[in-house]
Amino acid sequence: MVKLSFDYKTLSLSPDLHSHSTYSDGTLAPEALVARAADRGLKVLALTDHDDTSGLASAQTAAQALGLTLVNGVEISVTWRSHTIHVVGLNIDPANAALQTGLAATRGGRHRRAEKISAALDDVGIAGSREGIKEFAANADMVSRTHFARFLVKCGAVKNMQVAFNRYLGAGQPCFVPHQWAGLEDAVGWIKNSGGVAVIAHPGRYPLDNAQMRELLAEFSEHGGAAIEIITSSHKPQQAAHFAAYAQKFGLAASAGSDFHSPQESYFDLGSLPALPPGTTPVWQMLGL
Ligand code: AMP
Ligand code: MN
Ligand code: MN
Ligand code: MN
Repeated sequence: MVKLSFDYKTLSLSPDLHSHSTYSDGTLAPEALVARAADRGLKVLALTDHDDTSGLASAQTAAQALGLTLVNGVEISVTWRSHTIHVVGLNIDPANAALQTGLAATRGGRHRRAEKISAALDDVGIAGSREGIKEFAANADMVSRTHFARFLVKCGAVKNMQVAFNRYLGAGQPCFVPHQWAGLEDAVGWIKNSGGVAVIAHPGRYPLDNAQMRELLAEFSEHGGAAIEIITSSHKPQQAAHFAAYAQKFGLAASAGSDFHSPQESYFDLGSLPALPPGTTPVWQMLGL
């Protein structure tokens, strides 16, 4: 009889180190997110809500009951030069006071920004967004463009979320409201000082040329940033290779995360990430996983 042997290391599912719950712009509550991850075979998941860590406690409780390792995470909105950049923090301590003060300040402007987006939608003839987004924004302190996009789909103004961003909410579109987020050095500092590892999220999404990308990564490393996402729903396969080369050049570890927001909206579902390219150093080696 032929005995088949398997290398369980290569068969085991990669950790998913980027996901969202209803505490930011995901559609699943932390408990439901964790249950879906466990159902789909994930062993390690990071919850990384935008600018808010309120979902971590219930996610941890749910994860423990299911035998899943939940990494405490956050995704901080940063303004670098004129660009919005997202920095994921992994293994952060949500009880850290400086981190919480920084996140509160980063979230703080979202109320006024949301009002400006609603006013801009009124101006293009789309009424009712102030009330309409409430169905989607469970955390009143974390109103995001995603909630507006879901409202635009629901009221029939656009056929899907992509069109909502392309036509109304994306940079340069009529209902885009420029915003000043956290500074890069501050965000990396809050993450590091709370014991976490800072990761540049979905680098392929930023409209930066190669020289600007090098400058961003040099500054990020200088401030103590340690990793860059290689595998994400935002990247095409050739971008994974492209950013793996950047990781090598800047001595950054490689991260993988679906950036899961909802079963309907994310390219990679939980538990379906491709492996990191060979030659990269997985960031989970720095997380004690
Ligand atoms: P905000 O932090 O309020 O500016 O919202 C940013 C969020 O909008 C991101 O985290 C994504 O979830 C979502 N988003 C941005 N661009 C797009 C897009 N083109 N299609 C779908 N969702 C997008
Ligand atoms: Mn989001
Ligand atoms: Mn992001
Ligand atoms: Mn995200």
